[in-house]
Amino acid sequence: YAKDEGRNNCQLYKVSLSAKTPEILSLEKSLRCALERKEFIVYYQPRVNIITGEITGMEALLRWQNPEMGVVAPNVFIPLAEESGLIIPIGEWVIREVCTQNKAWQEAGMTPMTIAVNLSPKQFRQPNLLEKVAEILETTGLEPQFLELEITESTAIEDLDFTRSVLKDLEKMGVYLSIDDFGTGHSSLSRLQMLPLHTLKIDGSFIKQLRNDDKVGHIIKAIVTLGQSLGLRLTAEGVERAEEIDFLRSINCDYVQGYFYYRPLSPQQATEVLKSESQKIAEGKHTIS
Ligand code: C2E
Ligand code: MG
Ligand code: MG
Ligand code: MG
Repeated sequence: YAKDEGRNNCQLYKVSLSAKTPEILSLEKSLRCALERKEFIVYYQPRVNIITGEITGMEALLRWQNPEMGVVAPNVFIPLAEESGLIIPIGEWVIREVCTQNKAWQEAGMTPMTIAVNLSPKQFRQPNLLEKVAEILETTGLEPQFLELEITESTAIEDLDFTRSVLKDLEKMGVYLSIDDFGTGHSSLSRLQMLPLHTLKIDGSFIKQLRNDDKVGHIIKAIVTLGQSLGLRLTAEGVERAEEIDFLRSINCDYVQGYFYYRPLSPQQATEVLKSESQKIAEGKHTIS
């Protein structure tokens, strides 16, 4: 189905009349054919338990490998996909790919992991999101607790009643839900507290500021403490340095994601990492470091 949609889009392409640079136009045109040409690949970034060092899950991060342009970053093509509507078939492909991969890893004997998929605003608002997610879980045979869906804070707060009703339905289905880029949407935890969330992800920009601004540490600590008191798990994104780990450990942050532990990994690399991780867990080798 996604394939058909990709093909139609590919054929029906029309130059839009808005003021776009030739580069953007040509990028958008290539994007329309990218699904059909199988140019997308999902990378996986492990999420690590800050106390034990165990991998407790992963985040799926999409990459576009275009023959002419090389690897295009999601910050470039996701906005284009979002604006053109292509995010709907592309996003569906990502969920299906991730569930298929996750199921394959489980069947190969890896320790079961929850894998998070990012949903853009338009994807989150598509009318048949629930049916699609249910169908993909059914088709791939993946149990729902191994799929997590991330929406950004800004997406969540745009229409809180709508967000709550969609998230409640997804929660009933059994998938995990998290808020991404927390701290950039200028909302407050008291507004998000009405949502059935599992995890709050602190935006990487806060961690980056730790280096030169003492006050940021207090803000991060306040977010972690309040979030946890509301029953949420806290993940810090973009963690690159040992000092950042020390600080996050001192304030009892639950999980970290970042280059310090792992960069986003190709499926092959992720398979290797999961294999050795599953072995360590089986042998009980994880220790507090
Ligand atoms: P995000 O969901 O907040 O993902 C975190 C981004 O931070 C990723 O960038 C990741 O590679 C990067 N990152 C992780 N650790 C570090 C670190 O230690 N230092 C630094 N500097 N960066 C780190 P990426 O992969 O380029 O993705 C950017 C954004 O694109 C994502 O932000 C997400 O909003 C969006 N995106 C990625 N894949 C998808 C997708 O499949 N669907 C949708 N709708 N959006 C996606
Ligand atoms: Mg994310
Ligand atoms: Mg984020
Ligand atoms: Mg982001």
